[in-house]
Amino acid sequence: MNASDRPAIEGGIPVRDVARKPWPAWPIYDKAEERALLDVLHSNKWWYMEGAEGIAFEREFAAFHEAEHGVACTNGTAALEIALRAMGIGCGDEVIVPPYTFVATASAVLAVGATPIFVDIAGDTLNIDPARIEEAITPRTRALIPVHIAGRPADMDAVLAIAGKHGLKVIEDAAQAHAAEWKGRRVGAIGDIGTFSFQASKNLNAGEGGILISNDEELADAAWSVTHVGRVRSGRWYEHRVLGSNFRLTEFQSALLRVQLRRLPEQTARRAENAVGLRALLQEIPGIALPREDARITCHANHLFPFRYHKEAFGNRSLQELLAALLAEGVPCSSGYVPLYKEGMFARAAAGEGAWCRAGRRIPYPELSLPECEAVCADCVWLPQNILLGSASDREDIATAISKLQQAWI
Ligand SMILES: *Cc1c(COP(=O)(O)O)cnc(C)c1O
Repeated sequence: MNASDRPAIEGGIPVRDVARKPWPAWPIYDKAEERALLDVLHSNKWWYMEGAEGIAFEREFAAFHEAEHGVACTNGTAALEIALRAMGIGCGDEVIVPPYTFVATASAVLAVGATPIFVDIAGDTLNIDPARIEEAITPRTRALIPVHIAGRPADMDAVLAIAGKHGLKVIEDAAQAHAAEWKGRRVGAIGDIGTFSFQASKNLNAGEGGILISNDEELADAAWSVTHVGRVRSGRWYEHRVLGSNFRLTEFQSALLRVQLRRLPEQTARRAENAVGLRALLQEIPGIALPREDARITCHANHLFPFRYHKEAFGNRSLQELLAALLAEGVPCSSGYVPLYKEGMFARAAAGEGAWCRAGRRIPYPELSLPECEAVCADCVWLPQNILLGSASDREDIATAISKLQQAWI
C-alpha cells in the first residue's frame, strides 16, 4: 500500500491538510453585524423593554417561518420549558419525546414536573417513529415533541394526525431546523408551538438565544408571560399574574440575529446543494447507509450530515475507530448522542430524586432499551454544518476520505 492509500491514522498521508486547506469558518459575519451591534451599543438601549431590535426580530423570524407570533428568549432549552408552561403542562402529565436528541428536549419536560415518555426513532430518518407513538399514549399524555433532527423535518402529517385523534398539543423542537420545510411549509408553526435555538453551533447563531413561534395568539401570549416574569402584555408593570421567570434576550443578540437571518436563505441553499452532492458521492461507497429520501421534505436544513456504516464493510472497525481515522484524514466528525434515557438525570428522576413530581407515573428509565436508537448511536457519524458551506472540492475530500478507509480496511 502506498502512503496516500494508507490511512493517515496508520501513518499514511491525510486526504486533507487542514492547515493549508481549512474548512469553511463558522460563524460568518462582516461589517453589517459590526454596525448592528455598534448601533445598539450607541443607542444606550440594550434591553428588550427599551429597544426596538427584539420586537423587530420576533416579527421577522416569525414571518420567515410563516407564523403569526414570535417570543424571543434566552435559549432553545428555555424555549421548550416556556412552551410547556404556556400549555399548562406540569406535574403528573406525560409528554412524548424521541430519545435521539439533545438533552433539552426531554429535560425541559422534567423541569416542568412532567414525565418524558421516550418513543423510538426510525433508523432511516433518525426522527421519532410515528408508528410507535400511539402505543405510548396514556390518559396522562398531553403533548408530543417531534424533533427535526439534523435539520430533517419529522413526519408532521403523521404527528398531526395522531395529535388530532388524541387531543394532544404538538411542540416542534426545531432547534436544528431553521428554514426547513415540510411539503413547502416552513417548520415551527405546523404544530401548536415551535422552538428554535441560536446557540453557537446552530444554523442561526448569536452565541446563545432562542425563540418560540406559534399561530395561536393565546399560547403566544401565555409564552410571553412566562418569558416576562409572569407579566401580561396589557397589564401594569408590577402585575405578575402567572408563574414565569426572566427569559429575555438582549438587544445585542436580537440585532445580530436580524442580520444573520438575512444570510440564512443563501447558506441553507448552499448546504443543501453540498448535501445532495455528498449523498451522490457516498452512495457509491460500499457499506454506507444514508437517511431515506422523502419528497415531502422540500427543504432540509442540514444542521448535521448524518450517515450510518456497516461495520463488516469497514473491517469491523468500531464507530470510535472510524471517527478517529476520519479526523486523522482531516474530516471533522463526531459520534453524536447517546440514548437519552441512559443519562444520569433520568436515572435520578426514576429514583424519585430532585424536582421530580411524585404524582407522575414512575418510568424505570435505566431499564429502557429502544433498539433503533441504540443501533443508530453505535453506527452513525455526524458531519457538522459548516463543512457543507464549502465547495465541490470540499465534499469530494469528505467522500475520498471515507472511501479510502473503506478500501484500506475491507
Ligand atoms: C441545541 C438544541 C436545543 C437547545 O438549545 P440551546 O439554545 O442550546 O439551549 C434543544 N433541542 C435540540 C434538538 C437542540 O439541538
